[in-house]
Amino acid sequence: GSTIGILGGGQLGRMMAMAAAQLGYRCHIYAPDRESVAAEVSAEFTCAAWTDTAALARFADACDVVTFEFENVPVAPLAEIGAALENKLAPHPRALEIAQDRLREKNFAQEFGGRPAPFCAVDAADGLHAAIERVGAPGILKTCSDGYDGKGQWRIADARDADAIRLPQQQTVYEGLVRFSAEFSVILVRGQDGETRFWDSSENSHEDGILARSSLPASDAIAAQVDEARALASRIAAALGYVGVLTCEFFATEDGPVFNEMAPRVHNSGHWSIEGAATSQFENHIRAICGLPLGSTATTVPALSMTNLIGDDALDAHALLQDEAAHVHLYGKREAREGRKMGHVTWIPLA
Ligand code: ATP
Ligand code: MG
Ligand code: MG
Repeated sequence: GSTIGILGGGQLGRMMAMAAAQLGYRCHIYAPDRESVAAEVSAEFTCAAWTDTAALARFADACDVVTFEFENVPVAPLAEIGAALENKLAPHPRALEIAQDRLREKNFAQEFGGRPAPFCAVDAADGLHAAIERVGAPGILKTCSDGYDGKGQWRIADARDADAIRLPQQQTVYEGLVRFSAEFSVILVRGQDGETRFWDSSENSHEDGILARSSLPASDAIAAQVDEARALASRIAAALGYVGVLTCEFFATEDGPVFNEMAPRVHNSGHWSIEGAATSQFENHIRAICGLPLGSTATTVPALSMTNLIGDDALDAHALLQDEAAHVHLYGKREAREGRKMGHVTWIPLA
């Protein structure tokens, strides 16, 4: 097949489409938002609602392979057009189903030996007090679905905070605050034959719930826990019959790796792989879903870091090019809203 369909129109889709183009594929973007930075670098764009099954079916028919860059693509319409997507969609939508619901995701990880932070489902205002009682404080209340970049989360220092919170209409989960020494993610690619490769795990730091920086090599605390985290991630991938790039986020703690969440897709903490690895996460995702041989995931430089350009950070980004260590990526978003990921820079010191 030669046309790759991508559900979702953001920067992850844009970088996927750029990797696909290098391998001679054309991409067709499907997204509900008229302004799509992925569509700008792709051959075709269908702008339609996630629930428009007629448009979805036409899109699927026009593509040889279909994947997603957005983890909140509703699963029901995909199931509804089943036949049109048969043997085309990778990874399998069951990965979406799990990752779209924090409760399901934590239970699923536990089934495979993962240890999430202590957690408890919260249903009513009263339920939050009960959850705090069970799990303890401090903690974080999170919506089970639709959250990203720390949105839909409330930090709770003690039980009194619970009174001040108006619970959202959606299902939420309360989890204990993890005392971690570092955060890291395991990013793997799994091919159609089950072959699984891992990129090095960078050390990730967040500001205001948004990834700010990923760096390599990671601290010793992370290095000591990566094997256990990888073993879990690959059990999860195998159980899902996963094809493509999968990310699992972890906290490195005194008691070993604590599972935070998974993303059934390429991940912001893997952007460094464009310049810093033999094969980027984007290219290997394309290779996997197209049934091509996977490329080496080896890190090719001794040290690097990736910093996100968020909101106004991107205004003067071209000035960063004066630094020979800077590899600047701008996503072409027109409006630099606060907290919006506008681009990133991978810093690789010259030898
Ligand atoms: P993403 O953009 O990665 O999908 P998200 O909105 O799903 O983010 P989380 O990954 O749940 O949010 O949380 C964002 C960040 O908040 C984490 O990377 C971590 O720094 C902090 N955090 C979340 N949950 C906990 C916890 N239980 N204990 C300590 N810190 C936490
Ligand atoms: Mg998340
Ligand atoms: Mg996260």
